[in-house]
Amino acid sequence: NEGGACVVNFEELMINWKNGHLKVDEATLSEIESFAKDYMRFMTVAKTERETVTQAIKEAREKGFRNLEELEGPWTAGEKVYFENRKKSVVFAVLGEKPATEGVNIVVAHVDAPRLDLKPRPLKEDEQIAILETHYYGGIKNFHWVSTPLALHGVVVKTDGTVVEISVGDKDEDPVLIIPDILPHLGRKVQMSKTMDEAIPGESLDVVVGSVPLNDEEKEPVKKFILKLLNDNYGITEADLLSAELEVVPALKPREVGLDRALIGAYAQDDRVCGYTALRALLDLTEVPEKTAVVILADKEEVGSMGNTGMRSAFIDNFLSKLIALSKPSFSPLDLYEAWNRTKVLSADVTAAVDPIWKSVHEMQNAARMHYGPVLTKYTGSRGKGGANDAHAEFLAQVRDAFDKEGVIWQMAELGKVDEGGGGTVALFMADRGADVVDIGVALWGMHSLFEVSSKLDVYYAYKADQAFFKHLK
Ligand code: MN
Ligand code: MN
Repeated sequence: NEGGACVVNFEELMINWKNGHLKVDEATLSEIESFAKDYMRFMTVAKTERETVTQAIKEAREKGFRNLEELEGPWTAGEKVYFENRKKSVVFAVLGEKPATEGVNIVVAHVDAPRLDLKPRPLKEDEQIAILETHYYGGIKNFHWVSTPLALHGVVVKTDGTVVEISVGDKDEDPVLIIPDILPHLGRKVQMSKTMDEAIPGESLDVVVGSVPLNDEEKEPVKKFILKLLNDNYGITEADLLSAELEVVPALKPREVGLDRALIGAYAQDDRVCGYTALRALLDLTEVPEKTAVVILADKEEVGSMGNTGMRSAFIDNFLSKLIALSKPSFSPLDLYEAWNRTKVLSADVTAAVDPIWKSVHEMQNAARMHYGPVLTKYTGSRGKGGANDAHAEFLAQVRDAFDKEGVIWQMAELGKVDEGGGGTVALFMADRGADVVDIGVALWGMHSLFEVSSKLDVYYAYKADQAFFKHLK
């Protein structure tokens, strides 16, 4: 009570907003634990956007989802469908009582994550060490990637169309790859006196892939040995690497964090945590929704949502048109516009949780806390909401109401202090189409690091929030 005025602690005023562990009972805690196990299992196999899409479709098919391309129609409420886009993005839907022209309820998350992509001509030899040249994807801090075990995932496509899948570094018996850092003893001039940006340049993120010469005569014998291994194990040549998508990712498994085991550490929780919780919310729907419930797992968000698998692409209009056609085979462009205009969207992406070491970047009254539930975020952006969708108050009220009706533990926050930095999501690309959109997501520590941290409780309530949205948004 500073200055004698009537100063009320914001958290006392908003009695609902406190650490979720003080609000949940034993039965809910065991549901939270069991959901966390499922999520961690999913994250163990979903190390790239392709693997995430494949695994999501596998789990959906087990729950009765059918490829929309194989569906003859007509519209049947309760029908479960999916629409795959080039193995890198996918849309799932449970058809509602109302036709798609009435609009649909969408939760959209992205499943790409910051990583190191191999360059088209990656392999070279220097000082009898074979290395892979990389070009980083998304907003990384370069220093995270050195002296840490790395895995290689992706595909090599041969000219006859054969797709060779590669996954090395995540099984216990696998070798891993490494970008060696310089020892502190010799790092004073080349590294320690520089800024963090300059100390480890992006071009220096070269991955060691081999060190044994094939023989002692030929040129580049170590590189030749690696090429021989690639050919023996995968039937590919150096030229085949020209048409490959190979991603270097951390060779780390999801782990429980803290002696109380309440947190989850894993790579790529931005944004597979929102992708998985949305998918599960849809797969676990027990009633036919009034409006069609849709989950989009998108690609390319970390590089601006460009490309035909990103959220700027027309593939999502294509999908919605196909849904409309199920109940209205000959429809006009107006039907699609109207459907978008009546559509509600949760743009599900992660945000930053207060970390006591770096709390100066937050304005504490509007900052997200671990264990306070998923974070509703009215606007993102930077420099005066630049690039923000900024959700309308009317729509926010509907979403709040849905969460409260289902007892969802949630919080409301913004990413950081005004002008501290900022970031964006896919929200604006959905709003471009005329839908009502608001951001929601799980708050993380160490977003874009190799081992991002979330709260089991927040993950569970992100799932419950998506379910409440599907159930109540009209
Ligand atoms: Mn994200
Ligand atoms: Mn991100």
